[in-house]
Amino acid sequence: MNKDIYLTNNLNNKKEKFVPMDKEKIGMYVCGPTVYDNPHIGNARPLVIFDILFKVLKSKYGNNSVNYVRNITDVDDKIIKSSKEKNISISELTTNVIKDFNDDCKYLNLDEPSQQPKATDHIDLMIEMISSLIKKGFAYEKNNHVYFEVNKFEDYGKLSNKKLKDLIAGSRVKVSDNKKNAEDFVLWKPSSDHEPFWESPWDKGRPGWHLECSAMSKKYLGDVFDIHGGGIDLLFPHHENEIAQSRCANNTKSFANYWIHNAFITMSNEKMAKSTGNMLKIKDFKESIDGQVLKLALMSAHYKQPLDWNEKLLNDCQNTIEKWYEVYLSIDQKITLSDDILSPLFDDLNTPGYIANLHQLYDKALKGNNNDKSLFVLACNFIGILNKTKKEWLSIKKKKLSINEVDILRKIELRNKARKGKNYKEADKIRKELFDKGVLIEDKDGKTIWKLK
Ligand SMILES: [Zn+2]
Repeated sequence: MNKDIYLTNNLNNKKEKFVPMDKEKIGMYVCGPTVYDNPHIGNARPLVIFDILFKVLKSKYGNNSVNYVRNITDVDDKIIKSSKEKNISISELTTNVIKDFNDDCKYLNLDEPSQQPKATDHIDLMIEMISSLIKKGFAYEKNNHVYFEVNKFEDYGKLSNKKLKDLIAGSRVKVSDNKKNAEDFVLWKPSSDHEPFWESPWDKGRPGWHLECSAMSKKYLGDVFDIHGGGIDLLFPHHENEIAQSRCANNTKSFANYWIHNAFITMSNEKMAKSTGNMLKIKDFKESIDGQVLKLALMSAHYKQPLDWNEKLLNDCQNTIEKWYEVYLSIDQKITLSDDILSPLFDDLNTPGYIANLHQLYDKALKGNNNDKSLFVLACNFIGILNKTKKEWLSIKKKKLSINEVDILRKIELRNKARKGKNYKEADKIRKELFDKGVLIEDKDGKTIWKLK
């Protein structure tokens, strides 16, 4: 691929040409899940978007050139709270949720990231980083708490476009007795009884959430790397704090060169949040919908735009995948995707533009030869859809049918009886009933056969 990749960089909110520091070693860090509960559809959006970016980078620079790190937060107040509510140990909770999370990623047919580090495996690095921040005068300890002193870092607020004086004025939170300033954020805090803890120079305790990404990105990608991503809700304060910690600890002028954030998913135009009760978990879709349908829906809006989630969107995507399988064919390996086909994805991950290209390729494939069909399937495969064979797709569909095979045959028998008795109205009614349940029937050579729509 000769085309350049363009991305909207939130450091300056401009679309910029992506220039890697070393095109053979591209580093991308994306904030992963906090494993206190199964991921919801809002969490699925960054998973799918950064998977597309991973694929685009690999297609330009080669499969082994991209180091994609997606962390797992397995120590956090929400985890402690959830384990108490569920009355199970923290390790049982996090093990279960991590397993479900990995299953969800498979269901969405995502490429595995190069690394998936867990916060609890890197506490020593976090302690090291805190010690270095204290030594350099950017952090202070009080009563076994350690805070980062925000006003010591003059670039604070550059990513989120916030001014420190506005942050201070806007802060209504009661300043803790341990904090010097309201805007300071915690790097280490003591654990009470029954909470997970680690030994540290500031007594038994655990790290603040922001710190883990600074520690793990340093370990796997170095002090300065190419891309950092996540949902827009992480831009402030999480990412702002990551920049402050990392740049001060590592003595660098920059941290990540490109900051990419995806917008929210809304439900009937409301932000999806636990408090409003409109959370849809990824696993809730597994029974009724194939992962590639969900994936297509998640790519239907540009990542910078909010995506409104509704039944119509899912139905449309189901029908689209259904239609696309009509021309499915196993791929002729000699065929490659042209720059023109891929170009919307290279232009700031324009997934709706790419889907429009797929519709055009489908139209060509429908009228064209096997080469056209292979090209269409290959283009679908690029974004991780139509990866199942037609046989697999049909068997999944059959499993998800709202009527079983015995009932279908019984209905056909009833219809044949009705036809014999010249009760065509009844026969048509049964045909319509089956059709509504996804079954097509055909009368051929005196026999009735059925197939899935
Ligand atoms: Zn993070």
